[in-house]
Amino acid sequence: MASRMLKFTEIDRAMPEKREAKARTQDFDEIYSDYAQQVAEDQAGRCSQCGVPFCQQGCPLSNNIPDWLKLVAEDRMEEAYQVSQATNNMPEICGRICPQDRLCEGICTVEQSGHGTVTIGAIERHITDYAWEQGWVTPVKPPRERDQSAGVIGAGPGGLAAAEQLRRKGYQVTVYDRYDRGGGLLMYGIPGFKLEKIVVERRIKRLEDSGIKFEFNTDIGEDVTFTELRDKHDTLLIATGVYKARDLMVPGSGTKGVLPALDFLTTSNRRGLGDEVPTFDDGTHNAEGKRVVVIGGGDTAMDCVRTAVREGAKSVTCLYRRDRANMPGSQREVANAEEEGVVFEWLAAPEAILDTKAGKLKAVRAARMKLGAPDPSGRQSPEKTGETFDIKADMVIKALGFDPEDLPELFGDPALKVNRWGAIRVDFATMETSIPNVFAAGDIVRGASLVVWAIKDGRDAAEEMHKRMKAEVRERKAKREPVAAE
Ligand SMILES: Cc1cc2nc3c(=O)[nH]c(=O)nc-3n(C[C@H](O)[C@H](O)[C@H](O)COP(=O)(O)OP(=O)(O)OC[C@H]3O[C@@H](n4cnc5c(N)ncnc54)[C@H](O)[C@@H]3O)c2cc1C
Ligand code: SF4
Repeated sequence: MASRMLKFTEIDRAMPEKREAKARTQDFDEIYSDYAQQVAEDQAGRCSQCGVPFCQQGCPLSNNIPDWLKLVAEDRMEEAYQVSQATNNMPEICGRICPQDRLCEGICTVEQSGHGTVTIGAIERHITDYAWEQGWVTPVKPPRERDQSAGVIGAGPGGLAAAEQLRRKGYQVTVYDRYDRGGGLLMYGIPGFKLEKIVVERRIKRLEDSGIKFEFNTDIGEDVTFTELRDKHDTLLIATGVYKARDLMVPGSGTKGVLPALDFLTTSNRRGLGDEVPTFDDGTHNAEGKRVVVIGGGDTAMDCVRTAVREGAKSVTCLYRRDRANMPGSQREVANAEEEGVVFEWLAAPEAILDTKAGKLKAVRAARMKLGAPDPSGRQSPEKTGETFDIKADMVIKALGFDPEDLPELFGDPALKVNRWGAIRVDFATMETSIPNVFAAGDIVRGASLVVWAIKDGRDAAEEMHKRMKAEVRERKAKREPVAAE
């Protein structure tokens, strides 16, 4: 049979169909559709099957990308799914929201040769969406049960990945979360137009069906103490993410109508899930008919501007102090936002929030910036040019990033060591914190990062937690204490 691979000179790169901006801004549904099977096969066949697959090195999970691309090209979908899910607990989620241009696709050899990257993310999504349709994604069935238990604090991607890996080995796993649903930022941060909530819900349901216990509405440090959890479980994972929003330090920032980004996004996501949200109904978190200014240039800012468009804002402007090339958010998302009518004010930093005599929000005063000398990290620092301008505003959203909460204080345990930014210190070889048998993963270790890194950390931590619990059983056996089968 002639090879179905190396077709990049014959077949052009094609992303899945994207809905027109006018139609997609009327709802919160995803903007990209899935590939038809034949298109997925053709696109997968563009892979050059490199001896040294750079794409795999660009993926934090070291996914076996060339292998599953070849299996898709040959229409061996069930095998492709098995290979894909072996290294990633949520391939269809990463396929949707990883910034592939900065990861796997950015260093794809076909991309480097000028033919346009293999659409790795879209194919990864297709494989597992297809597997769900076919009924191949089934609950975990551990080969045997173990009596030891692991507690996981946080039901975001880091905590969920660890919980699944531990359950696969037969441990009794309980996940605690202060929210009323699982998923962390997948559920309440990232909007439906990037990741529909059903995709997250079916993952949680599968874990429940696998025997993992979820205790929602349980704030560790508040409802249950950290010490209680340590006593209850053989090992613990902290995967609490970062939720302390950075504030806007300019005059007038306390004016009514200046809002934290996550409150705005959570409100919108909750409405999409059918919850009643009084702060939407009373207009506080509703952009309809308003002139909205979003401050920031990361993924959160992009999600806010596009949410505001969908809520029917009169105008939406994004203010960012560096230029387009130096913004942290994904370039794909900027392009999507522009198509949807968002105006970008590059090289502009907020200087003051202006209000009327009656105290009503009126405008954002912005300073025009230029890029100056590089800072110690090599990034050019923005400097004021002396020019200012005003943008009229009825709602201002602060999307300036997040820092960790003070966990040693919240958990009442000063033995939990953090770095100077407040992130938990771990030994990256084991993901263990300064407290023995307590591990950590995801944003709370790295600072605000990516879903794929949280999954990687969760998997690494679970592997080490398993080793420790196994070693403990051996020790107990050596002392001839009664134990369940190892
Ligand atoms: C708006 C927005 C958009 C983003 N877009 C993308 C994107 O497109 N692609 C991408 O890769 N990444 C994106 N990210 C980043 C990504 O969401 C995070 O890196 C990822 O979710 C981190 O996973 P985590 O498991 O560490 O934490 P989280 O997802 O934050 O989950 C932590 C969980 O812990 C719970 N928790 C916290 N404290 C406690 C406590 N004391 N007791 C009990 N439970 C607790 C929280 O309720 C939460 O459910 C985005 C982030 C934001 C804010
Ligand atoms: S997990 Fe992310 S980085 Fe890895 S192959 Fe999938 S899309 Fe690329």
